[in-house]
Formats: sequence, structure tokens, C-alpha cells
Amino acid sequence: MKILDSILDFLFPQKCLYCGQVGSVVCQNCVSQLPFPKTQICPICYNPSLIGKTHDFCQKRYNLDGLTFCFYYDDKIKEAIKKIKYRNLFSYVDELVARGISKLDLEQFKDFMIIPVPLHEKRLKSRGFNQAEIIGKVLSGKLNIQLRTDILKRVKDTSSQVKLNKKAREENIKDAFTVNSKVKFKNMKALLVDDIFTSGATLNECAKILKKAGVQKVWGFTLAHGK
Ligand SMILES: [Zn+2]
Ligand SMILES: [Zn+2]
Repeated sequence: MKILDSILDFLFPQKCLYCGQVGSVVCQNCVSQLPFPKTQICPICYNPSLIGKTHDFCQKRYNLDGLTFCFYYDDKIKEAIKKIKYRNLFSYVDELVARGISKLDLEQFKDFMIIPVPLHEKRLKSRGFNQAEIIGKVLSGKLNIQLRTDILKRVKDTSSQVKLNKKAREENIKDAFTVNSKVKFKNMKALLVDDIFTSGATLNECAKILKKAGVQKVWGFTLAHGK
């Protein structure tokens, strides 16, 4: 496998996805221009919050307990995520996640399980892969914590959320997920992984389902934040 990798690297050298410089997916020069967050943000009120923890006054029983994200969703990240969808999946995600988490303290997640936000079967078939799962896999390897894809299932093939406001998104995503009833949830801590945080409707819906099933703590992790 290593030999094959080196042959592939030789034939198709990695290029910086922004400036084209050969050597890595994001070159040293372009890394400094990535939109690293100045602060983390409460996933409920979108105001700054230390390490992304949900403010005490925003916390309800079934909300996310916090959110960690790597980048603001600007044109640079938009471009990168678009490319993730079509080619060089793993090396792109690997590089972006590595760059993103280099500035974060993720020590608090060492006893969590990574649960990627699932796609509906139909969507998965037409797209061929689940971006959230690829990000989750990469993160799982880097943090050395377990990835679980057998816990959450998307049972409703929701229409696109892009044009909807917050309230409509919440309505649209309601009851879209179920949990695997064979799993023991007591004392479990979950790190929900998705590509982009927009209104938080999807992550909060997943958090609600997991907490109702008995999960103790649910945080979100996204590559980008669109608010
Ligand atoms: Zn570059
Ligand atoms: Zn808040």
C-alpha cells in the first residue's frame, strides 16, 4: 500500500488546492489565510462562548452541550468543501481536519464517541459517500477515539435546507432520525460530526434524539461554521 501511495504521489503529485504549489493539499503559504475562528460560538444563540460550550442560560435539556468548529465558512472553505465532494476525498479532508484541529484543544473529547450525521440511504446511494462520515473517520484516527456509524439512522429523506429559515429548518428536520434500539446509551458521550454548521437544526435534532435515548452529553464538531 505504501509503495502504491508513493507511485501515485509520483505520478499525480499533490497540489495546493488554492495556489497549485506542488507538495501538499494546502501549502504552508495558504494555510495562514485559512479562516481560523477568533472565538468559538454557542450553538444556540450564536454568540461567542469559551471553547464553544452552550451558555448555561441557553442550555435546555435536549440541546447540544457545545460545538467545536475548525473554520468560518468563507469562500476559501466553500471551495475546499466543494472539492471534497468530487475528488481526492481523503487527502483533502485529512489535510483540512489536521490544519483545523491544530488550533483546538480537543482533550475533553477523549471519552466521547464520534457519531457522524447520517445521510438517508437514497441520498447516500446517489452521492456515493457521506462527507460527515469521512470527516468523522479522519477525526477518529487523529484523536484516537471510536467512530460509530451504527447508532443514528436517517429515516426521513428531508428536502434541501438551503432556502429555509431557522424555524422552517427545525420543522423540516423534525423526526428525521432514529436511534438503534440495541445500543446501550447510558453514560455515553457523543461527538456529532457534520461538515457545516448553519442554523444548528440538524445537529440539535440529533442531540435531542440521542439525549432522549439516554446519552449523557452531546457536542457537535463541524469543519465549518456558516453563521
Ligand atoms: Zn497554496
Ligand atoms: Zn448561547
